[in-house]
Formats: sequence, structure tokens, C-alpha cells
Amino acid sequence: MNRELNGKKALITGASTGIGAATAIAFAREGASVIINYRSSEQKAREVMKKARELGAEAYVFKADVTNEAEIADLMKFIESTFGYLDVLVNNAGGLLERREITSSDLEYWRRHIDLNLTSVYLVTKNSLPLLLRSPSKERVIVNVSSIAAFTGGGRGAFAYASAKGGVKTLTRAMAKELAQHRIRVVAVMPGLIVTPFHEKAKTGDVEGWAEKQVLLKRAGSAEEVAEVIAFLASERASYVNSTEIYVDGGWMYG
Ligand code: NAD
Repeated sequence: MNRELNGKKALITGASTGIGAATAIAFAREGASVIINYRSSEQKAREVMKKARELGAEAYVFKADVTNEAEIADLMKFIESTFGYLDVLVNNAGGLLERREITSSDLEYWRRHIDLNLTSVYLVTKNSLPLLLRSPSKERVIVNVSSIAAFTGGGRGAFAYASAKGGVKTLTRAMAKELAQHRIRVVAVMPGLIVTPFHEKAKTGDVEGWAEKQVLLKRAGSAEEVAEVIAFLASERASYVNSTEIYVDGGWMYG
């Protein structure tokens, strides 16, 4: 078994389901201690914690809305009292709350998507920095979960979500520039069509049918396939990967 994250202290936002949950489990398997942040699904977060502990990891759940700076500050206080510092931050929480086209949208719709998918990355990162800077590790890492939507403009009724994810891609590069001096690598993953609760909430419809048309591998991906890449990026195996994006999309077809 690879234990390439042995001893690392990691925070994963939105980790009660989907890619975040799979990342917490992958990290635990590789020896990391994990904070499983969730907003509403306490029971699911506790199931992830249980699995992580069964793998021998130190794991805790903490409820915080990543769009609320006061709740983020409480999350950081909890991490400070539990671990004292952080080595890895995975900004994963996000989603497409409702599909609307520009013509039927309003400012509130736009703001909700920018807040959840982009402002949250800024807020959680800013508040995590004191803990990342306290890490004794020679390598600290931030992995931002963006989306292929940043590149494609998003599917039907996803203009605000796609714009926010484009912002995450740019913010990744801007953060990398500022934080390299503190030995913090910053990278983004760009998932394609991944089977998670995301698509139930976003009412994507026939995910596999869509994948058949759009993806070279002719299938949707799994949360575990994205989590593997995040675990690699967080590890010292990726020590020279910085200020860039990795697409985990099975080969998206543009032709
Ligand atoms: P998911 O819905 O299972 O995961 C999103 C998680 O974020 C959920 O656990 C949710 O409770 C949490 N969350 C939502 N709002 C929150 C808030 N305000 N505070 C804290 N947590 C909050 O879906 P997923 O596919 O695992 O999504 C994870 C990330 O991957 C998201 O950022 C999503 O945009 C991105 N992504 C997903 C796909 C896909 O096809 N599934 C594709 C590209 C990008």
C-alpha cells in the first residue's frame, strides 16, 4: 500500500459526498490525517470519517458553510486545536444549484454561483494560510477543484457555474504566484463528467448517454478516479507540478 501522504494534515471541503468523500478516503489510505468538512449531511460526513478511521487515519468532521467567513474561521480554530497546522488544503465544495440561461437569470442567481464556487475558494484559502504557513513540512499544497466547464463554457444553463469555475482556474495561477515564496504549490483539477450527487442536484439527466457522445473513453468517470489524481497532486510525487491544471475527463471531444 502507498503511504505517500503519511503524517500529512489535510482539510477537504465538501467531503461528505462525491469527489470530496473519495478524496478523504484516498488521503486516509495514503496515511494522511483528514478534516472532513460538510455543510448539511452530517450523517454522510460521519460515514466518511468512519471509513477513514478504519483505514487507520486520524479523521474528524466539521460543519461549516464555505461561503460564510465566520463559519470558516470556526473551522480553522477547530483545525488549530486538533492538528495545530495544515499541509494540504483541497478546495472541493461547489456545485450547480439550478440550471438557468442568462435571459431567465437574475443577479441573485449569478451571485449564488460565484459565492459557492469561487468566493469560497478565496475565503477558505485566505483563512487556511496561517495554518499552512505553520506546517513543518517542506512542501504545502492547495488543490482547487475547478471543472472542464471552465474551458467549455458549461453545459445547458450553467453559464454562472462555468464562469465561477473559470475564475477558480485563474485564481489557482494567481495563488501559485503569490504563495511559491512560502513553498506552497497550487494546482487545479478539471473533472469532466463524474458520477456523483452533483448531477442529481444539477438535473443533468442521462449522464452516461452524454458521456457516450462527449468522452473519448465513452463513459463517465468515478469520484475515485478524480480522488486518485488529487492524492497524487498532494503528494511529493508531484513536487514539480505547480500553477497548472490537470484534466480528469476521459478525453473530452470538441470535434
Ligand atoms: P457533490 O454534490 O457530491 O459534492 C459537492 C459537495 O460540496 C457536497 O458534499 C455539498 O454538500 C458540498 N457543499 C455544497 N455547498 C457547500 C457549502 N456552502 N459549504 C460546504 N460544503 C458545501 O458533487 P461532486 O461532483 O463531488 O462535486 C465536487 C466538486 O467537483 C464541486 O466543486 C463540483 O463543482 C466539481 N465538479 C464536479 C463534476 C461532476 O461531473 N460531478 C465535474 C466538474 C467539477
